[in-house]
Amino acid sequence: MSLKLGVIGTGAIGQDHIRRCSQTLLGSQVVAVTDINLASAAKVVSDYKLGAEVYPDGHALIKAADVEALLVTSWGPSHEEFVLAAIAAGKPVFCEKPLAVTAAGCRRIVEAEIAHGKRLVQVGFMRPYDAGYQALKAVIDSGQIGEPLMLHCAHRNPRVGENYKTDMAITDTLIHELDVLRWLLADDYVSVQVVFPRKTSKALAHLRDPQVVLLETARGTRIDVEVFVNCQYGYDIQCEVVGESGIARLPEPSQVQLRSEAKLSNAILMDWKERFIAAYDVELQAFIDGVRAGRVGGPSAWDGFAAAVAADACIQAQNSGQIVKIELPERPGFYA
Ligand code: NAP
Repeated sequence: MSLKLGVIGTGAIGQDHIRRCSQTLLGSQVVAVTDINLASAAKVVSDYKLGAEVYPDGHALIKAADVEALLVTSWGPSHEEFVLAAIAAGKPVFCEKPLAVTAAGCRRIVEAEIAHGKRLVQVGFMRPYDAGYQALKAVIDSGQIGEPLMLHCAHRNPRVGENYKTDMAITDTLIHELDVLRWLLADDYVSVQVVFPRKTSKALAHLRDPQVVLLETARGTRIDVEVFVNCQYGYDIQCEVVGESGIARLPEPSQVQLRSEAKLSNAILMDWKERFIAAYDVELQAFIDGVRAGRVGGPSAWDGFAAAVAADACIQAQNSGQIVKIELPERPGFYA
């Protein structure tokens, strides 16, 4: 029997996940959708020939008897209330990042899930499902390069729109590094400083771009992440791990190598959706398979909380220019 899914939010990623569930992945069926714009939800039902019911709002959809699990893909500020309602209904929920827009909101979800007594929440951090990051983690865990001492990372986008503000470099962009690097190193952050190099002339007046985020972990590993969202040339994710006896780099996405017009070249992707398209498939298939097997795994509500705590400190560091402590409470045994 297919897992019957309800989807809250039929914007860009909501539609992409609906396409995935209905055309690419195995074992699920979208039976219910809603969006603050009901006409958009109805259009998605028709475009994808879902035969799903359109509900007036997220809460009505969560309560629907035939909805067995939820995908929350609405805008960030609405995530907390829908995830809490799903937990109250005892239904597994895949929630796109951010789990909640504040660390306090994430903490409320953590507490509700612990009170429920069983994991129900998977957060939509997809990079741990990327084959490249998995290969990099396998090398680190094998001990081949010794203990990781330093990480040099970059998160570059060709350009961003007018609505993108300086703090979104943390909450929308760096948030993926905050999650995946913690997973990669199995370590937590203890401090952060943000420094701003000379500003690019390609950024709009209100935006400070690029920026460099300097993180320190509990075991003393130092991480620098360059966030540069108007780099022009492509969507480029870099991660180099310097260990005691070697260096490991995140593999480049597979591209045809071209010899043409006296040049040897590899194309660079421009669109983030293409860079992690396979990882999105794997993360959502893992959620579907997990729920069908009676267990939810992957990035947890605690991981969502940890990323939010680190993000809050990064924003403080952006504003103060100082080194800011990142104080994460002890992880509850529930998430061991
Ligand atoms: P989007 O295109 O703006 O879609 C969000 C949709 O949710 C819109 O249709 C919006 O309606 C609707 N919505 C807002 N409040 C709602 C509510 N209370 N109930 C029902 N629907 C509501 O944004 P998006 O790019 O899909 O992003 C959605 C979420 O996914 C964000 O949290 C984003 O950070 C996350 N995301 C994650 C990744 C990733 O790499 N994991 C990638 C992209 C997005 P209106 O447009 O009418 O407001």
